[in-house]
Amino acid sequence: MATTEGCLVASTNRGCKAIYASGGATCVLLRDAMTRALVVRFLSAKRATELKFFLEEPLNFDTLSVVFNKSSRFARLQNIQCAIAGKNLYIRFSCSAGDAMGMNMVSKGVQNVLDFLQNDFPDMDVIGISGNYCSDKKASAVNWIEGRGKSVVCEAVITGDVVSKVLKTTVPSLVELNMLKNLTGSAIAGALGGFNAHAANIVSAMFIATGQDPAQNIENSHCITMMEAINNGKDLHISVTMPSIEVGTVGGGTQLASQSACLNLLGVKGANKESPGSNARLLATIVAARLGRRALTNVCNFSRVEMQARGVDGRLQS
Ligand code: ADP
Repeated sequence: MATTEGCLVASTNRGCKAIYASGGATCVLLRDAMTRALVVRFLSAKRATELKFFLEEPLNFDTLSVVFNKSSRFARLQNIQCAIAGKNLYIRFSCSAGDAMGMNMVSKGVQNVLDFLQNDFPDMDVIGISGNYCSDKKASAVNWIEGRGKSVVCEAVITGDVVSKVLKTTVPSLVELNMLKNLTGSAIAGALGGFNAHAANIVSAMFIATGQDPAQNIENSHCITMMEAINNGKDLHISVTMPSIEVGTVGGGTQLASQSACLNLLGVKGANKESPGSNARLLATIVAARLGRRALTNVCNFSRVEMQARGVDGRLQS
């Protein structure tokens, strides 16, 4: 973690201790797709809807995928989602990008599709390759609901014994605090994806340490923390669900010496040759797991999580 908030490291370590003593955490990757949404304008709303219907027609998807995927051997188009505002059309492309975070890759794919569309829609006026419906570095419902980058859920069961000895509190107190602060308090505040204590702390510290784009901490910090008393109220089930973790292990700041060393420490440095994308996906689960640890002590040892996510043969399992 790279942070100027010294106590963050100490409190995260306490969460690590609690989860490790309780048997570790489990992470599941739900989705892996970077997005970019361009904005185009027509002379009429009717004409804009014609392009929307063309792009959303399932029969056209294979052709559009071939055009889009020419951008890179790692880019794979997954979805096209359109939104209309009058005669302006916002087109949100989602694609997997191997071990890259994917912003460059998805933008190149979008440019390929644009060039292709000019044949049938020469009256299309391209206003911007990014029309903010992506949505990059802005708090937005679209990322909170649809996800951007990797979507991850991570869970752990903390035994009552560990809650009292390591966290110095009780299961009912933690459940109550989570309900009244992270859920109700955030609802009262009208939070957008902010149903957590301070996910942004961990995300920023890990992003700087591993060479990610720290400005993306806005959507990356979307997180809902859930806590529930289980086993007749004796133990605590905790989970963090994060829809928009935008990380890569190649490109950008991942090449810098310190950041590259940190990725190496986590076992996710560079491109995964056998299974492209596995390193970046594993890194996303590590970010979520670390966050869960901090969430526990209001505050979060990778080793068990990594071993579970990677499996005994070193391949990503979840
Ligand atoms: P981003 O799209 O995140 O901005 P880059 O533009 O730097 O990242 O793209 C990543 C570069 O790394 C591409 O040129 C790509 O061909 C290369 N690359 C090599 N191995 C991989 C891999 N396993 N996954 C993704 N990209 C890879």
